[in-house]
Amino acid sequence: MIENPSPGRRRFLKLAGGFTAVVALSATFLSRAVAALPHLSASTNPTAKALHYTDDASEAVVHHPPMQHCMMCQHYKGHMGETWGPCEIFPGYDVNAKGWCSAYKARESMMHMMHMKP
Ligand code: SF4
Repeated sequence: MIENPSPGRRRFLKLAGGFTAVVALSATFLSRAVAALPHLSASTNPTAKALHYTDDASEAVVHHPPMQHCMMCQHYKGHMGETWGPCEIFPGYDVNAKGWCSAYKARESMMHMMHMKP
């Protein structure tokens, strides 16, 4: 049988619960901050320049279909709703979800949904 905790013990349990929540939230924010990578730039990265990378697909110097941007690319590993995310072609950097480069490859699932060819 469980005894009713004393007021002092109840207060301690509340404080311990609050402390645990604060530690869990801090760990979440810290892991996201650590996971963020430097943003890719064609002005400083020779590979990005060679592949005509741009943060804004609508400003790409190479003509491409309008629906092509990093978020729709098979190489993009960012999460839905985030502005920047990692790309397999540019390890160590985040690319813009609305960006584009000439290594673009349509996601299989997108091609299936849109009845497009790669
Ligand atoms: S390979 Fe795909 S995700 Fe990576 S920069 Fe080029 S278009 Fe964006």
